[in-house]
Amino acid sequence: MNYQAILENIQEAMAPEFGKGRVADYIPALANVSPNKFGMAIQLIDGTQFKIGDANENFSIQSISKLFMLQLVMRNVGDMIWTKVGKEPSGDAFNSMVLLENEKGFPRNPFINAGAIVTTDMLMSNSKNAADQFKNYMRLISNNPSVDFDMDVAKSELGTAHVNFALAHFMKSHGVINNPIDALIDIYCKQCSMSMNCVDLATASLALANKGYSAICNDSVLSERNVKRINAVMLTCGTYDSVGSFAYRVGLPTKSGVGGGIVAIVPNVMAISVWSPELDRFGNSYVGTAALEMFTTITKLSIF
Ligand code: GLN
Repeated sequence: MNYQAILENIQEAMAPEFGKGRVADYIPALANVSPNKFGMAIQLIDGTQFKIGDANENFSIQSISKLFMLQLVMRNVGDMIWTKVGKEPSGDAFNSMVLLENEKGFPRNPFINAGAIVTTDMLMSNSKNAADQFKNYMRLISNNPSVDFDMDVAKSELGTAHVNFALAHFMKSHGVINNPIDALIDIYCKQCSMSMNCVDLATASLALANKGYSAICNDSVLSERNVKRINAVMLTCGTYDSVGSFAYRVGLPTKSGVGGGIVAIVPNVMAISVWSPELDRFGNSYVGTAALEMFTTITKLSIF
């Protein structure tokens, strides 16, 4: 398959899709990003890369960090993780509190904010410096020793993280959170601020496409069993309350973030990432979703 030509076709076809979504504006660092950015990167399991557009420009990975934090915690604590967080879609916005009250502080899944705050708390309990451990894991799997937190973004996130503080306090009142809330939300905001590009993200997701083995790291980053499980949680929970329509349109395990990035996995073939900052009403990249839909339509690489 001529992936480079396919990426070029997609980029051209996306022109009419701009202007239909809205860039995240809850902090200036996100609001100021140019809405017309578009990048895509493909990382085949043998290590071959393809890219187009702004694939080398860094952006804030935001909730895509939840995917990598989950991996790190599964590596550290194994199945224990599922005693504190579920694996069911929430059918609610990523920062919703509604279910949490009914379900006594037990978050539906690790890809909504409440669930990700729990996984970050678990890493803190198992690590002397959870933020550094997360950063080092991202550097390892992206094969890029320069990826880092964007401290301006992290500071703005922290200054506006009222709902995330509320979620954490509520869960702590139910005994779900072990660590001090201030330190916990500080690390959560740092992981969301991680600055990476499409090439970094496709590379970092490669193990999920290849039974846990990354040809770039030349190492088994994840067990085959955890890959099966994480891909399942991505498919069912990775795009918040639009997982159904996302599976219908794209048909791949996926994780998105409000920075406009999306990573998707074609099992046994590739990891693919796309970035375009305008979001749909669920917080997923508007153009990015359309681009991935076109990709699986042309290549017939949906898992279905
Ligand atoms: N930093 C954002 C938050 O915690 C991340 C949300 C997202 O990307 N969906 O609200």
